[in-house]
Amino acid sequence: MTNKKALITGASRGIGATIAARLAKEGYDLILTARDQSKLATVQKECEQLGVEVLVSTADLSSEPEIIDLFLKAGFIDLLVNNAGFGIFEEITDTKLEDWQAIQKVNAEGAFLCMREAMRTMKQQNGGRIINISSVVGVKGYPSQAAYGASKHALIGLTKTAIEEGRDHNIRVHAICPGGVATEMVKEARPDLTDFSAMIQPKDVADAVAYLCSLPTNITIDCIHLRRAASPQTW
Ligand code: NAP
Repeated sequence: MTNKKALITGASRGIGATIAARLAKEGYDLILTARDQSKLATVQKECEQLGVEVLVSTADLSSEPEIIDLFLKAGFIDLLVNNAGFGIFEEITDTKLEDWQAIQKVNAEGAFLCMREAMRTMKQQNGGRIINISSVVGVKGYPSQAAYGASKHALIGLTKTAIEEGRDHNIRVHAICPGGVATEMVKEARPDLTDFSAMIQPKDVADAVAYLCSLPTNITIDCIHLRRAASPQTW
């Protein structure tokens, strides 16, 4: 057991649920959050079977009061995984302002507020780790991903700032930028795709999270670019 506590956003399904199970295996006690209580309860059960303590706390990450309440309930944490996010995929000329704003609200602003609350307690305890799940879309431009891509670029910008602000407080901050991962998000966005076997799997992202958590405090990795070997280089 690590005696460490991790808060994972977007833990009700997909990459977040897989990260939760992986961190439970590593011995982390968990605070799992998302909006869907019943899906969170399923993930909670799976993680508890691995012998760790798991608290579920629902929150809509577009709400500052709900985020503040979540972190009050969580108390001191050693690790924040900012994973929650969603996309609406349109070209710039077809993007509605309300869709743009909804995406920035959760993917950028929600992640910022979680980092703010986490870093406040991590500064008090002189240490911690934050892992932001950005995307290849946070590094490169893709058609029909204007709002989503901007939000993921914002998360990279936040990560860079937090790396600097966290350094002297023993707070290590990382981004992971995966290419396409076989989850419901992709299945919903690309109903035409039928074969997901060649894609990155949620487990691959969870393994990258576990690796970052294993780093000694005197070294760090700013960003992991995780891509299918068949895709062009990311950076
Ligand atoms: P997913 O299956 O759609 O899961 C998204 C998670 O975010 C869910 O747990 C969802 O929970 C939560 N969420 C969404 N809106 C929320 C809100 N307003 N408040 C609180 N929680 C919210 O997606 P995924 O593929 O696992 O993606 C996870 C992260 O990886 C996202 O940030 C995504 O951008 C990023 N990513 C995904 C891919 C990919 O190809 N799949 C690639 C690169 C990066 P509730 O609905 O229960 O609230």
